[in-house]
Amino acid sequence: MKPVSWAVAVAAVASFLAAAPTVRAAEVNVYSARQEVLIKPLLEAFEAATGITVNVVSGKADALLVRLEREGVNSPADLLLTTDAGRLVRARQAGLLQPVFSVVLEANIPPQYREDEGHWYGLSVRARTIVYARDRVTPAELSTYEALAGPEWRGRVCVRSSNSVYNQSMLAAMIANRGIEATETWAAGLVANFARKPQGGDRDQIRAVAAGACDVAIVNTYYLAGLAKSDDEADRMVAAKVAVFWPNQGGRGVHVNISGAGVTRHAANVAEAVALIEFLSGDAAQRLYAEVVNERPVKPGVPVSAAVAAWGAFEADSLNLTLLGEFNAEAVRLADRVGWR
Ligand code: FE
Repeated sequence: MKPVSWAVAVAAVASFLAAAPTVRAAEVNVYSARQEVLIKPLLEAFEAATGITVNVVSGKADALLVRLEREGVNSPADLLLTTDAGRLVRARQAGLLQPVFSVVLEANIPPQYREDEGHWYGLSVRARTIVYARDRVTPAELSTYEALAGPEWRGRVCVRSSNSVYNQSMLAAMIANRGIEATETWAAGLVANFARKPQGGDRDQIRAVAAGACDVAIVNTYYLAGLAKSDDEADRMVAAKVAVFWPNQGGRGVHVNISGAGVTRHAANVAEAVALIEFLSGDAAQRLYAEVVNERPVKPGVPVSAAVAAWGAFEADSLNLTLLGEFNAEAVRLADRVGWR
């Protein structure tokens, strides 16, 4: 019997070798709106753990959506890695993502941070909160986002343009929680309190508070961590002049958003793309990811970085973030009506 077994084995090896050149090496193509230097260590860890090669195309978040749409069925992308649930919902509505199911992802990511059909999954949680000038404002003067529309804040508030999906999502969250009318009244009051015409990004609002152009600003906290950890001493001095306040505690909580990922509609490497999201949602990657982006882990129980921990714990709004996308158009119209340019 032995010679026969040998013959079978040799034939099997020969056919394997013959087939080998047509076997594709495992890989996954990522379109990433996240800074490459930040995610590189994570992607390398994934490659080392799985043998799957990760190819990354980096770009601005909105430009990557345009590119995916333009490439259509010919897109090489398997996975979109981007920021803001509002944007991920937009990608899903544009037909750029496909639903994927994974027990690992369902276990690791709380339901409010993923789309219930599996088109996208949150990987980090970012708070959009109030920062204030340490020398001109005391925490006792602050309470809620809503209160920033009060007359005592006239000429003291800085916030970026409503063109930013960050502000659109913040408005959408308020619409989902409190309705259009209450949100519009608030937004009109906030605009009346602007210290200046909206300009620049969140980092610029923090700089404006530090420079005395305004007393409070609404920003994503990772920008403050970025300034505090900067190599530039001037940045660190800016960060030292402002403090973080967590509003709406005991109420709806701090407005949070996510960065996340979705498998593209025309992905050729679906299993590899899902494996990468699963990897990024696991304990070790979550800890490192949250550390490098100065956001919070999406997976419950994973500790936050020291910089983030220094701001203290807070209650986050538990809203299902899919709603940020569903109310996006309403939020944009509302911002326009109140003159939040
Ligand atoms: Fe950002």
